[in-house]
Amino acid sequence: MAQDWIKVRRDLHQIPEIGFQEFKTQAYLLDFIKSLPQEFLTIESWRTGLFVFVEGRVGDETVAYRTDIDGLPITEETSFDFHSQHDGYMHACGHDFHMTIALGALEHFSINQPEDHVLFIFQPAEEGPGGAQPMLASEAIKQYQPDWIFALHIDPKLSVGTVSSKPGLLFANTSELFIDFKGKGGHAAYPHETKDMIMAASTFNLQSQQLVSRMRDPLNPAVVTIGKMEAGTVQNIIAENARVEGTIRTIKPETMDTVKSGIERILSGIETRFDCTTSVDYGANYYMVHNDERFVERFKRALNGSSIQYKEAPEAMTGEDFGYFLKEIPGFMFWLGVDSPYGLHNSKLNPNEEAIEVGIEAVIRTIKSHS
Ligand SMILES: [Zn+2]
Ligand SMILES: [Zn+2]
Repeated sequence: MAQDWIKVRRDLHQIPEIGFQEFKTQAYLLDFIKSLPQEFLTIESWRTGLFVFVEGRVGDETVAYRTDIDGLPITEETSFDFHSQHDGYMHACGHDFHMTIALGALEHFSINQPEDHVLFIFQPAEEGPGGAQPMLASEAIKQYQPDWIFALHIDPKLSVGTVSSKPGLLFANTSELFIDFKGKGGHAAYPHETKDMIMAASTFNLQSQQLVSRMRDPLNPAVVTIGKMEAGTVQNIIAENARVEGTIRTIKPETMDTVKSGIERILSGIETRFDCTTSVDYGANYYMVHNDERFVERFKRALNGSSIQYKEAPEAMTGEDFGYFLKEIPGFMFWLGVDSPYGLHNSKLNPNEEAIEVGIEAVIRTIKSHS
């Protein structure tokens, strides 16, 4: 049995695809699911994702289990003989594990009819541009009306056999940040005839750090990181354009709005001071993952009698598209230990495949749990 799931994971690992391009992945999942007993199943495609409904014996409740299915635009640097067949793309966030675990639980309930209805959600585009929001807005999910929902993410820092979660905030609110500055280029020796966008963008970068240190309550954490800056053409021409790219993270959703309006205030000051124009784009935004305490307790109870260890998780400033599901439907997310020396989004990520069985067991137990 163990060998089967390792094969499935390795098959999926070889075909990573990015958001809304998961065509081969969807075809693989469909082939697999159609090979299961179909008596209790209803399969519905949604863009490059899937909804698979398992009819429960009693059906008082509908529990949803969500897995993400996309890979990342990262060139794999492992020496696996099952490494990515798609040059420049890799399952570097463990979504190949997540899908395999979903298939493992789905197989179980296709043979052993569950008491409650179960909706398996295979969600595209977690890494961007974001599949949760459009999926939640779809007619497909409305007809199934899940009463509660859960999901997992692999954790390279936890050992195999351990899971972790916590009530309340697990992941932060996040937003991307892209700013374009447009001024006037010219000769390096005639600065007075130009509008220098290296100066404008540098000023923005420095002032934006005061958003966290001087404009926000120190007891209400936030992060503003500028990770990339591009400007200019050669050493003796004053730069007409500049671009700054970064990310914003906050613990409270309201703080995200405060930080964004602070960024816009700084930019309007820069426009006045440098006589330039700026435009800001917030790219992909993720709502915080806020776990409902009742379901975290239920999860802990579900693990009783198993060999799986539960640990309380710390809060993290990382983001996760699953937050949008939890905004609409109560539930929780947990970390699954995979014990990799390399972290998430690392080109050498090497999760221990023994964790797949642990994940399948944790998911099956949670689906069978009762309040
Ligand atoms: Zn990721
Ligand atoms: Zn991920």
